[in-house]
Amino acid sequence: MGIELGMPAFAPPRPFPEPGAAPNAETPEGLDGLVDRYGRRATDMRLSLTDKCNLRCTYCMPASGLDWLPKDKVLTAGEIVRLVGIGVNGLGVRELRLTGGEPLVRADLVEIIAGIRANHPELPVSLTTNGLGLDKKAAALKDAGLTRINVSLDSLHPGTFAQLTRRPFLDRVLAGVEEAARVGLGLIKINAVLMRGINDAEAPDLLEWAVTHGFELRFIEQMPLDADHGWTRDGMITAAEIRSRLEERFVLTPDPRNRDGAPAERWEVRRRTSLEVVAGVVGIIASVTEPFCADCRRTRITAEGKVRSCLFSHEETDLLGLLRSTGDDAAVARRWQEAMWGKPKAHGMDHAGLGAPDYVQPERTMSAIGG
Ligand code: SAM
Ligand code: SF4
Repeated sequence: MGIELGMPAFAPPRPFPEPGAAPNAETPEGLDGLVDRYGRRATDMRLSLTDKCNLRCTYCMPASGLDWLPKDKVLTAGEIVRLVGIGVNGLGVRELRLTGGEPLVRADLVEIIAGIRANHPELPVSLTTNGLGLDKKAAALKDAGLTRINVSLDSLHPGTFAQLTRRPFLDRVLAGVEEAARVGLGLIKINAVLMRGINDAEAPDLLEWAVTHGFELRFIEQMPLDADHGWTRDGMITAAEIRSRLEERFVLTPDPRNRDGAPAERWEVRRRTSLEVVAGVVGIIASVTEPFCADCRRTRITAEGKVRSCLFSHEETDLLGLLRSTGDDAAVARRWQEAMWGKPKAHGMDHAGLGAPDYVQPERTMSAIGG
């Protein structure tokens, strides 16, 4: 049996407004921010800095890697700073996450963050990274104005880590996490994907490690965005299963703080041995079994400057050509708005593999989209 989507009702779709139609327009063309046909407003920008990566996580990349984009097809530091400016100043972006591929492989990462920070002193800017090389760059990233960091780490056992990432670099990732904590890079969040029979039994140990160090662990349900097309609905570890595994050792109670459009459902964590103390918080991102499409506030830009209105979109809208051919920020903003207007209602993923053809895996893998 499939699991019900359980999504709140959507408003009926509306036609794209004519230029100048909205009376209180924030943009010159008359549409207010990055809204879509269903009334959602994107304020959270996810920007991929590169498609390259130095790990080969089995749920993301093929063992052989991918054909990397040529350098001249990738957004430059200046184009990134300009795009963020268009988003923040004209389109209501209120939060920025830099991702990839692996953003730390970009030699100009510090320059990019410093450029964004110079223009937007109050903007929360976070980075999602696999942590390789973070031990050397954490201090510079903080000095440049990075607000916070998410490090992906699926196992604390060197052998399991190497099996999942196809690289033997656990020690280097742990050194990166330690240095990020030492330099005070905000609340450190740890992202983990559980794979059946590989690291799923490790879930309580990962949580113990995270709460002991003051990190917020977030489990992400494995999504069908892998290059090897190895995902199956029956094989993935569901949020319900993650909760019950954690509850073997911990007591989880819903975090009273408002979820506020965030993808993770958060839980307060208490050890069974000391129930009066909240040891920490754990988040579970149930994109497959408990999707949050109705509350989605994300707009994504790939490393080559294409808007994706949804992680699972089949359509992309190019902004790079326009950025390079015109100095007209309003034209770029308008194209970005048009792309977001077409955001699909929902991804239909929970039914994939169950006989209902609503979900078709996009051509791009997670690393090339920017997770
Ligand atoms: N390389 C960086 C990293 O690993 O953190 C940033 C990019 S990575 C695509 C961003 C996040 O997506 C990581 O936390 C990773 O675990 C997650 N991810 C990748 N493929 C996934 C999949 N098929 N399902 C769920 N999460 C996935
Ligand atoms: Fe690289 Fe991140 Fe994908 Fe792993 S999840 S292969 S680290 S992009």
